[in-house]
Amino acid sequence: MARYTGPVCRLCRRESASGAKPGEKVKLFLKGERCLSKKCAVERRTAAPGQKAATKTRPKTSEFGRQLREKQKMRRIYGVVERQFENYFRKASARKGQTGTALLALLEMRLDNVIYRLNLATSRAQARQLVRHRHFLLNGRRVNVPSLQVRPGDTLQVVPRSASTTLFASLFDYAKGRRVPGWLDYDEQTHTAKVVQVPTRADIDTNVDEQLIVEYYSR
Ligand code: SF4
Repeated sequence: MARYTGPVCRLCRRESASGAKPGEKVKLFLKGERCLSKKCAVERRTAAPGQKAATKTRPKTSEFGRQLREKQKMRRIYGVVERQFENYFRKASARKGQTGTALLALLEMRLDNVIYRLNLATSRAQARQLVRHRHFLLNGRRVNVPSLQVRPGDTLQVVPRSASTTLFASLFDYAKGRRVPGWLDYDEQTHTAKVVQVPTRADIDTNVDEQLIVEYYSR
């Protein structure tokens, strides 16, 4: 399935220019540390990407437009392609409880997202690459599928040989003292983690209005 591999800051600028209130900066946090620095593209300009966009007046956003932008925003934050996202939505609709929360929980429990949440990668894209390069053991077995769904009780650890590399030495430094959400348990000494429970909405700090996405797919 083809993933978007173009410049990602354009995606933030698109969301800032189209979906949000005028002047609001929408950050998708796709570039790790850079997103928190002054170099962040939306800190410098919020105009839509493209040569003529800066001179165009902002069109009024319809209800459908808002729903569409919110869906695109969530999809891009988690790095999921359209078809995969539709599958997640279908699974979420079949679950008990609120569909929007179930959708977020499914995306949060992707292996690449778990690694990002544990701060063992500075972005979801990096987490994805680390998984593809087989640097992690899930329940003691090497894995290389970033979309794997973790379950409560699962354990995750860095492959011992990888843990002694300079790459992971700097990632462990990066992870030191950073907040890990309550649904995950991370031991900084052994670099092992356990999935404690399915995340609730309160555990997920992703800035999206999932209700708009439910409305988008309920048209
Ligand atoms: Fe978005 Fe991060 Fe680029 Fe800023 S630096 S525009 S938050 S991807």
